[in-house]
Amino acid sequence: MNTYVCKSCGRKQYSAANTTARCIYCGKGPIELEPTPENVTLTLNRQTALAILHKLEAILDDAEDSYYEALERKSPELESFKGNMAVTRQQYSALRRAYQESRI
Ligand SMILES: [Zn+2]
Repeated sequence: MNTYVCKSCGRKQYSAANTTARCIYCGKGPIELEPTPENVTLTLNRQTALAILHKLEAILDDAEDSYYEALERKSPELESFKGNMAVTRQQYSALRRAYQESRI
């Protein structure tokens, strides 16, 4: 799944394709592939890290709910909901992994 950013409206859209023709939100563009993020090192106390992790888990639950609702009503923006869910899942997994590794 690739993440694209619209240079006109700044919104993100998601597609398995390598290119995307136009922005699904504003109809303009250009649309560019979002660069692969670099790793960063953060220092947080455990309580804060755990609180952020729980928040992200709730956001992931919402993203999954939105995707399944969109699937049920056959939304034309289904791919975008799917992409949002995938990205949120990646973010949650990355933070969870970092948290678990920090406990070793
Ligand atoms: Zn746009």
